[in-house]
Amino acid sequence: MSVVAYFGTPDSWLQTICYAAIALSGGLALVLGVRRNRAAAAPLWLMFAGCQFLAVCGDLVYAWYARHLRSSAYPAPADVLYLTAGFLEIVVLILILRRRLRARDPAGVIEAVIIAGAFALIAWVYLMKPVTQSPGLTFAGKLVAIGYPILDLLMLALLARMLVGGGGRNGAFLLLATGMTSYLAADYAWALTDHFEFQAGTLSSHTMDAGYLFAFGLYGAAGLHPGIRDLAEPIEISDRRFSRWRLVLLTAATMIAPLLLAVEAWREHNRVPDAQAVVVGCVVMFLLVVARMAVLIRQVERQASVLEHQAEELTDLAQRDTLTGLANRRAWEAALPLALDHARRDGKPLVLAVLDLDHFKHFNDQYGHLAGDRLLKEAAAAWTGGLRAGDLLARYGGEEFALLIPDCDTEAVTELLDRLRPLTPSGQTFSAGVAVWDGQESSDGLFARADAALYRAKGAGRNRVALAV
Ligand code: GH3
Ligand code: MG
Ligand code: MG
Repeated sequence: MSVVAYFGTPDSWLQTICYAAIALSGGLALVLGVRRNRAAAAPLWLMFAGCQFLAVCGDLVYAWYARHLRSSAYPAPADVLYLTAGFLEIVVLILILRRRLRARDPAGVIEAVIIAGAFALIAWVYLMKPVTQSPGLTFAGKLVAIGYPILDLLMLALLARMLVGGGGRNGAFLLLATGMTSYLAADYAWALTDHFEFQAGTLSSHTMDAGYLFAFGLYGAAGLHPGIRDLAEPIEISDRRFSRWRLVLLTAATMIAPLLLAVEAWREHNRVPDAQAVVVGCVVMFLLVVARMAVLIRQVERQASVLEHQAEELTDLAQRDTLTGLANRRAWEAALPLALDHARRDGKPLVLAVLDLDHFKHFNDQYGHLAGDRLLKEAAAAWTGGLRAGDLLARYGGEEFALLIPDCDTEAVTELLDRLRPLTPSGQTFSAGVAVWDGQESSDGLFARADAALYRAKGAGRNRVALAV
């Protein structure tokens, strides 16, 4: 209703009150939302809402002076409130972003400065410099008139920092960012209207003011969104976030300076010597530098993907036995405690067997070391063929292998090992010791029992399976 009344009524106290009511309800929604959602850094969000209340006070003071006292002095008392509210809002946003972007991120800072720098140039040429040269303004008037674009620039820099900073962009983030954009759009629309001395009619001035109201509403909606909870929580910075779009955006920002020069030269009827040549030179040079950067980025990305691939290969190599291709002792020692954890969690049995080739030294002596190697390799392949996908066979060392069989009982494992023994190539055999996990013992304890059983199998004549006690 307030919105309808706000647009529907001409410049009047009713309209001012509707405006204040909408702005205040946005601030109130932010306060309630922050409390209800238990947002991190709640005091900062409450201060942010406080800044909006202060700005509304500014609006009321402005309306009082304009309507009641018919005063159009500049700077007006309302300006003090507006500038204080704007300054505090920037401080609060900085504190919120400092929490969110705690990790060091020089790339993000540089990107934000490039974008804000482009706007700073426009703001200087069209908003700030004309103010400093305006003969009709007192010193205080000049300070106030420059204060607004400076605050806008700071807000823009923070918005850019927020957007390029990475991290999760939940609903609250998007509402806040859209609110800030809407606020800046309204401020810039007013500033440009003033600069070009365009007489805004009732509808157009109300539409521009609606940008502020929309911002206050979006801040309130951000507060009510559950995403506000972790908006001020530290985010992680990922290195791989330089997209093509980002390069296009930064390129566009660098084009602002030559573009401004072109516009100014054109407005001054080419009184700037060689302006066109300088503009074309700037654009071409900047584009070439960006193109060089793009090539560099592609190079770095290609190198990163090669490194990633190599790292994967290295991890795999570090876990694998080179001769047999089985898991090596390192992988086995990492896998065993994990398997025990799984079995404990699922309440399922787990069996460990230690296998050792019989008289392998003799085989080596008789056929040579290379034949011994071949036997190890072929035995590993043959045994693996007889196992299930979930079983783990590892080369523990020399001609000794460790086998982990989840969800299996003693009878089944004895049967399995009896089946594997004749699969050993070149007519060779192995002995094995088997231990069933008791549900409590450590990896070492379980292994030691299986190893002791293996010694008994050897002692009992080899080519057999012994159960641990
Ligand atoms: P047992 O039946 O008691 O196990 O007798 P064994 O000869 O198999 O056991 P022993 O521990 O006496 O000898 C193991 C041999 O395994 C000695 C070592 O040279 C050989 N060996 C260990 N690793 C390798 C390898 O990678 N390749 C080859 N060819 N031989 C190896
Ligand atoms: Mg042996
Ligand atoms: Mg041995």
